[in-house]
Amino acid sequence: MKHIPERTCIVCGKKTYKYLLDRYVYSNGKFILDKDKKLDGRGFYICREESCRKKADKKFSSIKSRLERRR
Ligand SMILES: [Zn+2]
Repeated sequence: MKHIPERTCIVCGKKTYKYLLDRYVYSNGKFILDKDKKLDGRGFYICREESCRKKADKKFSSIKSRLERRR
């Protein structure tokens, strides 16, 4: 059986198949949707639940402040 990679939604914490999540990459202070799954850098995954999409911006800004503090 082929292994399907799983990722965790950063909003709800649900683990699901990678292809069911949207990948965002943090780059130059912004989160960019990695549509073609080609961008380098640390990826953040969000599932397609309406509630997660609504909370995504808030989550991104908290991640952003965490990332910037680390520098
Ligand atoms: Zn979610």
